[in-house]
Amino acid sequence: MHSTEHPEIMCGLGLDQDTAAFIEAAAGPGYALRNLPPDAVAWMRGTEGRTQAAWVPWEIWTALPKNRREVCGQDDCVRRILLLDEDAALLETEEVLSEGFVTAVRAPLTRFKVRDALLRLREMDSLTADLRRKTEEIALERELLVRKSNHLTFLNRVLSRASSSLDPATILSKARSDLRSLLPLTALAATFWARQENGESLSAELYMPCLLTPPESDEWQQALITATEQKAGAKLSEYRQVCLTPDRSRKPVPGPGAGRLLLLTLSVGGEDFGCLALLTEKGLRLAKDQVQTLNACVNHLALALRNAVLYRQVKIQADRDGLTKIGNRRSFEVRLADEAARHGRYDQPLSLILVDLDHFKHVNDTYGHPAGDEVLRDMAALLGEGLRSSDYPARYGGEEFAIILPHTSREQAALLAERLRQRVLERGFRVGTSKTPLTITVSAGVASLAPGASSQDLVLLADQALYMAKNAGRNRVVLAGPPSLVGNEGTEGVALGKALGQEAERPGPAVALNRLEAKSLVQAAAFM
Ligand code: GH3
Ligand code: MG
Ligand code: MG
Repeated sequence: MHSTEHPEIMCGLGLDQDTAAFIEAAAGPGYALRNLPPDAVAWMRGTEGRTQAAWVPWEIWTALPKNRREVCGQDDCVRRILLLDEDAALLETEEVLSEGFVTAVRAPLTRFKVRDALLRLREMDSLTADLRRKTEEIALERELLVRKSNHLTFLNRVLSRASSSLDPATILSKARSDLRSLLPLTALAATFWARQENGESLSAELYMPCLLTPPESDEWQQALITATEQKAGAKLSEYRQVCLTPDRSRKPVPGPGAGRLLLLTLSVGGEDFGCLALLTEKGLRLAKDQVQTLNACVNHLALALRNAVLYRQVKIQADRDGLTKIGNRRSFEVRLADEAARHGRYDQPLSLILVDLDHFKHVNDTYGHPAGDEVLRDMAALLGEGLRSSDYPARYGGEEFAIILPHTSREQAALLAERLRQRVLERGFRVGTSKTPLTITVSAGVASLAPGASSQDLVLLADQALYMAKNAGRNRVVLAGPPSLVGNEGTEGVALGKALGQEAERPGPAVALNRLEAKSLVQAAAFM
């Protein structure tokens, strides 16, 4: 029921006065009718805002220009009731509808006919509203389905790309490009932590964005360290930094303070093991479904990253010596074979030092096996001091160590071995409960890979040089290989060889590097 205070406005188009008055009266107190001239246009779109119905006589309708009639047919136009003369030809319902009228009323008009037409119009209105609502619901459902499908496609892509690698850096680089379709990502970094053996402190791997300038690099490092300590609830005692490959844009990466940094914990089976750091635009707000997708994506990534981290740990453990934590014999052999192959390809020098502790049995016998273990551990640490990242120290056997030195000539390797020998001599090792540090000495054999030789040849040469060093009295370095070294052509090596009964197979000058202690560093003439 319409209120009489705010009657619903109907309009008539070119109605005669009687008809207009009759319709208004028949419609009842809730309606008012405004009769307009036949050429009026305002009625069409209901400019009154509340105009619901228009009464249009057939002869006036058919006299309107075609384009005007077409405009009237559009959805948002006023609903029209057709008024037919008493003697007008019988218009089929279809024709009435095709002209866009809701219904038709034939003269003579009665109260019932007017009310019935308005009722139809109302029904039509509610049907249209229903239809519109349903259409909107369908559009919404469709949109949701499209989003869900995009979400699943996205997750599927992230998961399959993440699980196609066992290298954390590769997984992170792929995730960085995948996540860009979800949010405006400026940079991605990550940290993975593990408890140290003491169970209190942490060690971590920090995966840093590439293309960082010094201040930004420090900021990222600090942000990752802080995130690690906060999320793991422990102090970080050691960490290693890995640089992710740059993305395609190769733009310099801003610091973590340049935008909004999202820190997402990586967790599998309820155990937190890392944190993903996503740098996005400042003031970024994520929609609810974006947050859901991001969370699902991080869960998937966590699984793949956990696998990759575990795989790396297992691999590292398999390559490490249990006591000294440096490379073991197996990894040494693999690494040396690789380096030898590279040496062959690029014609780069490759040297090897074999180091054996002198009279180590005596240390065990005097101080006990655990004290001997301690010395071996300290020795391994000392061995690693001052090496380049491409050098590879390993435990070759019981109290024997090896250092692979790629891109290192014999001369450089000899210097290195000699410095090492001196460092060991001067160190003073802790043994058990004894307060007096123990002086330990080492003997070393140095060799370089000759063209066409194999990694086994290189080991054999270094081993033979080591054997010579032992036989020559220990605490010294002996070089194997041809006499091409710098220094004066001394006789000491030959004399030494003779003294040891190691007569050179081919007589040649034995050379001692005059910069080094002549006694300790001898050209192994016997193996030329
Ligand atoms: P040389 O100067 O001729 O090398 O004398 P050496 O006593 O060092 O050599 P030898 O081969 O006679 O003895 C090696 C010793 O190293 C014997 C062995 O018990 C000890 N050793 C080997 N592996 C370990 C280990 O893991 N821990 C300890 N504590 N001792 C070890
Ligand atoms: Mg020994
Ligand atoms: Mg030995």
